[in-house]
Amino acid sequence: MQRNLRTFCYAAIFSLFLTATAGAQSQKTPIQITVDLSDVPRKLFHAEVDLPVTAGPVTLITPKWIPGDHRPTGPVDSITGVVFTANGQTLPWRRDDVDLYEFHVTIPPGVTTLHAHLDCIVLTNISQKLAYLEWDKVMLYPANTPVRDTPIQPSVIVPAGWGIGTALSPIGGGAYPVPAAGSTTRFAVTNVEQLEDSPILAGQYFHEFPLAPEISPKHFIDVVSDAPEDSNLRPEALAEIANLVREADALYRSHHYNQYHFLLDLSDTAGGLGLEHGQSSENGLGEKEFSDEDHQLANADLLAHEFTHSWNGKYRRPVGLYQTDFATAQQGALLWVYEGMTQYLGNVLAARSGLKSQAQYRDILASAAANLDYKPGREWRSTEDTAVAASILRDGNPAWANWKREQDYYDEGELVWLDADTLIRKMTGNKKSLDDFQRIFLGKGGNTGPLIVTYTFDELVRDLNEVAPYDWATFLHDRVDKINPRADLAGIEQGGYKLVYADKPSASELIVSANADPNAKIGVDVWYSIGLRLSSDGDIKDVRWKGPADKARIVPGAKIIAVNGQMFSGDLLRDAIRDAKGKSEPISLIVQTDNFVSTANIDYHDSERYPVLERIDGSPAYLDDITKPLVPQTAQPKPTADNH
Ligand SMILES: [Zn+2]
Repeated sequence: MQRNLRTFCYAAIFSLFLTATAGAQSQKTPIQITVDLSDVPRKLFHAEVDLPVTAGPVTLITPKWIPGDHRPTGPVDSITGVVFTANGQTLPWRRDDVDLYEFHVTIPPGVTTLHAHLDCIVLTNISQKLAYLEWDKVMLYPANTPVRDTPIQPSVIVPAGWGIGTALSPIGGGAYPVPAAGSTTRFAVTNVEQLEDSPILAGQYFHEFPLAPEISPKHFIDVVSDAPEDSNLRPEALAEIANLVREADALYRSHHYNQYHFLLDLSDTAGGLGLEHGQSSENGLGEKEFSDEDHQLANADLLAHEFTHSWNGKYRRPVGLYQTDFATAQQGALLWVYEGMTQYLGNVLAARSGLKSQAQYRDILASAAANLDYKPGREWRSTEDTAVAASILRDGNPAWANWKREQDYYDEGELVWLDADTLIRKMTGNKKSLDDFQRIFLGKGGNTGPLIVTYTFDELVRDLNEVAPYDWATFLHDRVDKINPRADLAGIEQGGYKLVYADKPSASELIVSANADPNAKIGVDVWYSIGLRLSSDGDIKDVRWKGPADKARIVPGAKIIAVNGQMFSGDLLRDAIRDAKGKSEPISLIVQTDNFVSTANIDYHDSERYPVLERIDGSPAYLDDITKPLVPQTAQPKPTADNH
């Protein structure tokens, strides 16, 4: 393993340097919190919290702005059964009239420990067989105190036979990671900031696998599932995930954790999650999504994305996205770095480690680029504004989302950082790349424990200039802050490819649509032809603003009943689009909108169109260099045959 040998003076380099290590605790008495997960099958967590107090009024608070969620998702509305006691007496409490996350209690003379009982109703990331314990769901701690300065000692009780995966360090010598029936697993004292960042994944069908054991610090994947066979990952998948650890090690050349745990649940009930932490990540997928390579493709970058966040997002964090408590609003202006660069690196690392092939990487990049290029909302809204407004864009309704724009800072960021990577390669004759920037920007200080070091836009520009001198401030401002009616396709073209439209979907698109989670998938995607995305039943998710279907006055949320006089099917609609080529008759649809039925005639005659990348002959193929492994692979190579 290569290490960063540069020496640093932190005070001279960082405008703000924040320790968050679990070891560096103050002399304060820790809060004790014990969470009982025995009622997971009934969707309830129970918590007992002992807080050190002194006589007089105290204000306790639960988290509001959860790091990584980019919006105020604290579960105060799900907290129930709150009872405060001291010396055997129940104490009255009152919620704050303005900040509903605060509880006011008056502590009687002589009392030094306040006991709180609370329950949390948990309806997401939970099933009959497994749950993520995100500690923010049950935390209670003093308000108006930096969370990194509040020590806390956590414990957990799980149902008999359930395994535990977590980056927390167990104490007390109990069996771990599968504790004895009814026993309590206690963990070392940490602080409220770190505990929030250290979830537990617990489940009945549990497997922990060590990854790339030659690399230090140590890496594990902890897998739980609803069905017993799914958590025992197949060797090919484990080899690819181990490659991911090796590739990240070779790319970043530094680590900012004492050990790292990929937490993975495979469940159709609880799946659908990706949340980063410094020393672990929560990854939720459908129960068959690691069962074979085809099922794997739709979310092949998930583990790589969340792992990358340990460096980009957790260790290095935009100054506006770090607050010393979970009560103050986080500011998202630099999310195109926090998320956008992670989107880029996650996809690159997934390709380098074999979680997807180079051809699949290009197909999926083509889809992302085309989606952004055909997003009319970019005519009024900058990418930066999608980041600033992140907290009101998450969980958006798909209706007219292309006109509103969505959380575009992810994929726009991917294109911007690809543009920067290929530009550096072009300017330096492929001797330098964005990999060199990552080693500077994400590796400052070499190896550290869990730590948060904030940055500003100016530091990004300085570090890019250290790799290759250029007017990077203008480069970034032009692409991110300005209104750009077209997507940034320069990176793809500098990478030796161009975005074109074929009359058939790419091989990867066909695999994803055949194998993706049925809840998530678009059944019929005719976005680049008539401008519609539909479910396989004909329910219209979105209509492309000013596209052919929009001109026929079709509305998102409506349902297509019939196509050219026959009952709707996806194949029939695609056939109709193909048949209309070169003819003058419109494609005639019968559409139900609310309780009304009408006819819509779509005047479109240019056949089907699906995005793919096409090689530009004779130009340097930097895109292929970018996705090549940095270390020799042990996994079976995937087919790399081009598919168009
Ligand atoms: Zn992310």
